[in-house]
Amino acid sequence: AQERYAGLRDLPAQSTCGTVTHLMMNAGLMADLPSLAGSGAEGVGLFRTELQFLVRNHMPKRDELAALYARVMDAAQGKRVAFRTLDIGSDKVLPYMKPQDEPNPAMGWRAIRVGLDKPGILRMQAQALIRAANGRHLTVMFPFISELSEFRQARAIVDQQIEREMALGHPVPATLEIGAMLETPSLAFAPKAFFDEVDFISIGGNDLKQFFFAADRENERVRRRYDVLNSSFLTFLGKVVKRCEESQVSLSFCGEDAGRPVEALAFAALGIKGLSMRPASVGPVKALLRQINLVEARGVIEAAMDAGAESVRPALMDWLSGQPV
Ligand code: PEP
Ligand code: MG
Repeated sequence: AQERYAGLRDLPAQSTCGTVTHLMMNAGLMADLPSLAGSGAEGVGLFRTELQFLVRNHMPKRDELAALYARVMDAAQGKRVAFRTLDIGSDKVLPYMKPQDEPNPAMGWRAIRVGLDKPGILRMQAQALIRAANGRHLTVMFPFISELSEFRQARAIVDQQIEREMALGHPVPATLEIGAMLETPSLAFAPKAFFDEVDFISIGGNDLKQFFFAADRENERVRRRYDVLNSSFLTFLGKVVKRCEESQVSLSFCGEDAGRPVEALAFAALGIKGLSMRPASVGPVKALLRQINLVEARGVIEAAMDAGAESVRPALMDWLSGQPV
């Protein structure tokens, strides 16, 4: 499939209305990085750092992590890599951490909540990332931020590590971007200060969807029950887009749905400028985005919503069937 889209590799995902959507890839292993050149992605929109913690029977050492992150940045050859700090929960149990007995692990002590309550791990990871950047650009993203104060606390930990490295005479990143993943509906209603302070926002659609519809992403009976092209979900995304525009903060979407062409088209039409997906999805999504007019697509979505449709999917599919795609 990658070959089929090879001709598009170096072309932008520019729709016929002129809007360019930035397509990036998700990764989590050094072995994923060769796909960056082949897929036509502009960078790594989500680098999940859990795996290096899960595959060992001891907490990885700072220098081991720094060496790995440096290799990831080297392999990206200057393209942006958004390192998502550790997202573990009691469902992703580290073999060397005491398992928590939680009735609802997905809503429990996970991700940034662990990072803030046990800041030693987050501090160590921040040091590893700063050392890996070694004077280059660094992009850090915190998972599962639910309120402004969590973002501030997490950011303070990274800032403190930068000061510490400076005091030690070590190089610090030339430029630094610190973002938050929007995975809980609450964050969309955070005070404006959140949108003003964050450098970028990436919607973690897998988690957001499960909390928006209250449908467990791991439960086969319910996980496909609700559609992200549902008008309520799109209305919610529209609100996030608006708040990001008001604060001029860049917004992307990195859940699995970003890699489905019709969903990707709807997100882009709503004004989400970055989409991060598995490498094999970049070609098909780019192919579709290049052939359609996002302004028209937005009109179709809005008309369906105004007409009271529960989902905009039928209207969008109908419109697409008349497009030269
Ligand atoms: C998400 O929740 O959409 C996401 C990208 O993160 P993960 O799938 O790792 O929870
Ligand atoms: Mg998530």
